[in-house]
Amino acid sequence: MKRSFLLSLILTLFCLTALAQASKPVIGITTGFSNQLYTLRYTCVESIKQAGGIPFILPFVDNADDARDYIARVDGLLLSGGADVDPINYNEEPERALGSVDPDRDLAELLFIEAAKNANKPILAICRGSQILNVAFGGTLYQDIPSSVRGALKHGQSQPGKFPSHSISISKDSYLYQLIGLEEVRVNSFHHQGVKDIAPDLKVTAHAPDGVVEAYEGFPKWDVLAVQFHPEYFVADNHDPLWLKLFTDLIDRANKKR
Ligand code: MN
Repeated sequence: MKRSFLLSLILTLFCLTALAQASKPVIGITTGFSNQLYTLRYTCVESIKQAGGIPFILPFVDNADDARDYIARVDGLLLSGGADVDPINYNEEPERALGSVDPDRDLAELLFIEAAKNANKPILAICRGSQILNVAFGGTLYQDIPSSVRGALKHGQSQPGKFPSHSISISKDSYLYQLIGLEEVRVNSFHHQGVKDIAPDLKVTAHAPDGVVEAYEGFPKWDVLAVQFHPEYFVADNHDPLWLKLFTDLIDRANKKR
């Protein structure tokens, strides 16, 4: 009797473990807020779905307890694109060319990043996401690349996002290079802000020809990968297998920690 109980207990535990491994990881995606609507392009959601994850859209939070509770329910975090980061977060005065900012979103994302760091959950950051992530780790930003970077290229392309514009060069000694396998590749570009001083603990891994930072990462100390371009357009609109790797990698990193 006792033995069969033990056996069934072991069998139940085995099944539960197998179920947990078979289920898709949940990826929290941050959003903007405008005209009483949470705003998130379908491209991020679609890319997580294509990569084999469950997209979980994160509303704003305004305190660390809520951020911790939300992050406890996801296996990874995707910081999406959006408006400018308020320079008050890196102790600079607003320049004239600063665009629109949303302090509520800044706060929510800074809290989510802190919670994800504490819970050791993987992060993929895109465009504005890479900017707020650098600030969260103690870095600074160019408030406006055209007026701050001499000889800057056009980083606000006019063609739709599924088309690449400027090139980037990727350092061979980076995690990003291991994933993508290319030293030079063209990406899309929809930003006028960018990383100025990279945060301690983070390493720049790709530049545009004008020196603008296009990617960085925190491995092995921090499970974070950030890109200044928008791989999700290539994935959602073109079903691009190259840039899908950034999202399947996030799923892989999330699975390793479940
Ligand atoms: Mn760019």
